[in-house]
Amino acid sequence: MTSAIPGPGTGKARPVAHIVTAHQQKEGAGFLVRRPVPTRGLDQVDPFLMLDEVGPITYAPGKAMGAPDHPHRGFETVSYILSGEKLHEDSTGKTQLIGPGDVQWMTAGAGIVHSELPGPSFKAKGGLAHGFQIWVNLPARSKLTTPGYQYLPACDIPRAQSPDGLIDVTVVAGEAFGVKAAIGTHTPIWLQDWRIEPGASAHIEINPDFNVAAYVFGGASCFGADRTIVQRGQMAVMGSGSSLLVHASSGSGAGRFLLLAGEPLREPISRHGPFVMNTHDELISAMEDYQSGKMGTIMRQ
Ligand code: FE
Repeated sequence: MTSAIPGPGTGKARPVAHIVTAHQQKEGAGFLVRRPVPTRGLDQVDPFLMLDEVGPITYAPGKAMGAPDHPHRGFETVSYILSGEKLHEDSTGKTQLIGPGDVQWMTAGAGIVHSELPGPSFKAKGGLAHGFQIWVNLPARSKLTTPGYQYLPACDIPRAQSPDGLIDVTVVAGEAFGVKAAIGTHTPIWLQDWRIEPGASAHIEINPDFNVAAYVFGGASCFGADRTIVQRGQMAVMGSGSSLLVHASSGSGAGRFLLLAGEPLREPISRHGPFVMNTHDELISAMEDYQSGKMGTIMRQ
């Protein structure tokens, strides 16, 4: 899992190296997403290839949208739902309804075809949809691994609290305040949902070899020794250091952010749409294998 030794931060706090503002675009059948990475000037936060915030959007009955059948190869897709629900079906025969607070960690590996659509009752009734999709790169040695699948309902996801009780962390990957995640990752990764109440602060150790970023999706939070403020819809990419220092922003209510940290792969990337490989030839093979049906199809009754 992780090689960091979490605990009270003592070393140099990482400064905010730069801030990117998520741009909005349409995905799948036309739903709006905020995407801080990849964006102009930020191709990835190695090993994180993409972060989409889907919604928040309130759908009228019958209007919810998703992404119909499409392939992936060479990386992992992580879905974390805050509100609404998503029906996942894939070419290995899995069907899963993912609800509020649930996490689905899908290893596409050598290739999978899946669909990500609103669940039938959500589609019928409509309602608030809000969540995230994160793409995590796989190292070259694992890009053609057998597709895998981890699903954790909200009640099984470990949660941590700061000693003063003012910070709550949903520990999807890695560890926080001594609480370890239940998900297994191919390389050392942290992926956590932080909620920080007014007046709170934390100083935690993070492996100095990791790349670290925070995407703020509620209120605002301040990072680094100089307390650089990061607003809702912005991602802060941290510079070098051995710890993360975060303070609640005054006057914005509770701050919410996704903390992304991981050991960089430092490998070449050749990406196109749903395929992320190391070389152009591997990318061509991925397209050919998909078109010839080698990634399978979703068998529906
Ligand atoms: Fe997908």
